[in-house]
Amino acid sequence: MITKVNKKNGDELSILGFGCMRFPTKAGIIDEPRSITMIRDSIEKGINYFDTAYIYNAGKSETLLGKALLGGYRERVKIATKLPQYMVKNLESAKKMMVTHLSRLQTDYIDYYLLHMLTDKSKFDKLVSMGIMEWLEELKRIGTIKNIGFSFHGSKNDFELIIKAYPWDFCQIQYNYLDENNQATKTGLGLAYSLGIPVIIMEPLRGGKLVNNLPKEVIKTFQSYDPIRTPAEWALRWIWNHKEVNVVLSGMSSEEQVLENIKIASDARENSLTKEELEIFDQVKSIILKKTKVPCTACGYCMPCPYGVNIPGCFSSYNDKYLLNEKLYRWKYMQTLGALSAKPAYASQCRECGKCERYCPQHIEIRKQLKEVSKEMEGSLFKPFVNIGRKVLKIK
Ligand code: SF4
Ligand code: SF4
Repeated sequence: MITKVNKKNGDELSILGFGCMRFPTKAGIIDEPRSITMIRDSIEKGINYFDTAYIYNAGKSETLLGKALLGGYRERVKIATKLPQYMVKNLESAKKMMVTHLSRLQTDYIDYYLLHMLTDKSKFDKLVSMGIMEWLEELKRIGTIKNIGFSFHGSKNDFELIIKAYPWDFCQIQYNYLDENNQATKTGLGLAYSLGIPVIIMEPLRGGKLVNNLPKEVIKTFQSYDPIRTPAEWALRWIWNHKEVNVVLSGMSSEEQVLENIKIASDARENSLTKEELEIFDQVKSIILKKTKVPCTACGYCMPCPYGVNIPGCFSSYNDKYLLNEKLYRWKYMQTLGALSAKPAYASQCRECGKCERYCPQHIEIRKQLKEVSKEMEGSLFKPFVNIGRKVLKIK
């Protein structure tokens, strides 16, 4: 296993991290003995970074990880877990969650602690106003947590605002060869690196979509260069080619996946892809682009929209529905466009002012396309559902 030093604190981290949200299941519940064996075997083979969260598997992910790390494994690894900031009502509720984390994980310290799923700066500001950051700093001072970070699913602009708003120890972003221009983007990755903030990557395979749902032409293109290399290896090696990346998380749910990923990680170094291999990615991306409904490159020139629409985010969710055969597209759309956040950014908020279209280098008829997005991705029940959700969650 190749390791990489976290330049902020000297931790030597395996470049492959274990994402603990997709453990194998049996009759719908986590297969505990099998998952524990998988975790321990992966530690023996060199993985030393385990990423879970308060909400994964309704808390059972943390509990299982805690059990798996008994018997001397805890000291050999770093645990990352996440405060569900969207459930935090006040400082007291966050403190209770910390007690739960430690009890489930059967440990008295957390190595990497993240504010889970920040999507816009207002969410971070709200946590600051509750005194959450001061409390985390106190926990860090007494050793209960070692590093303070955040995981991010929002726009490039919000990523920049958040990362510059606090002296973070690390951050976690979604990144893969399809998301180079989506969410934090390559620019955000570079910004984190330039600020000396280690980056953990999530969704390297887009939840398996870059392995299981690829168009046939893409598979053929990959195989034309190397008939043996799998789509997973292509996708993972693309990420590890980036010098800015510290750890790539993979949510592994079988022994085969663990072995395959460890094998790939044993030979994946930064700047190791050849010119020809990078050209294969260009071809693959061009095939994917041809299959996309809206040729948005997520350049962001059309932003900001005066009515808050995340234009590239809307088009990205819409495209994924077709390209990746995304089954949970409505849920993903709601999440990506912050339908239940302080700054919702979904397509039907468009007031057709036309300002954005003047700046689009792809000459996309943004207003027309947003209507399509709204029709297909929202449907008739979206607004009533969002309104009820916002009332229940007391979101203004
Ligand atoms: S046309 Fe719609 S999406 Fe474009 S700037 Fe105006 S309101 Fe925003
Ligand atoms: S300017 Fe055009 S291509 Fe760029 S993000 Fe906006 S819609 Fe997409």
